Amino acid sequence: MKIRLAAYLQPDSIVDGEGVRTVIWTQGCPHACPGCQNPGTHDFNGGALFDVSELIDELKTIKNQDGITLSGGDPVCQSEACYEISKAAHEMGLNVWCYTGYTYEAMLKNPKMKKLLSEVDVLVDGKFILEERSLNIYYRGSRNQRVIDVPKSLEQGSVVLIDKYMKDKSYDEPYKKPDYMFI
Ligand code: SF4
Repeated sequence: MKIRLAAYLQPDSIVDGEGVRTVIWTQGCPHACPGCQNPGTHDFNGGALFDVSELIDELKTIKNQDGITLSGGDPVCQSEACYEISKAAHEMGLNVWCYTGYTYEAMLKNPKMKKLLSEVDVLVDGKFILEERSLNIYYRGSRNQRVIDVPKSLEQGSVVLIDKYMKDKSYDEPYKKPDYMFI
């Protein structure tokens, strides 16, 4: 199976979800959100095709990661390939975040996207809306987007948000010593 990517695997990101993550930049997005930061990822014929099994093998060689993040582009447009990668990531002990311009509810109506959800831990959903853009929110570009606990949402049959990432960043909180250090 092949997947079309905008770039090769990017390890060690600390801005694309919680912890240290390897980002998978998929190529192709139908949403055309005004103000999109990655317009070069929209073309479904752009980027390059990669073999999914080779990417999984490469993922196994990348050390000290907490998880993978499916981003793009819109990764759920290649749900079958993203499902295979996410399933393998879980087998490696990595968690899975996924960004999409679709809503969680829309994904549930599409069998392939719904199957992908079964291997996603956190979904950041919804189009980027320029008028709702904020630099004061966690892991989202605009306030309409939601950070969703997918396993809990599937279990309960309704969206369960991750509250700590839905509130604004606070610059008034006292400095907290991190429980780990990067060296
Ligand atoms: S969904 Fe994301 S990649 Fe696609 S146009 Fe919107 S902001 Fe850009």
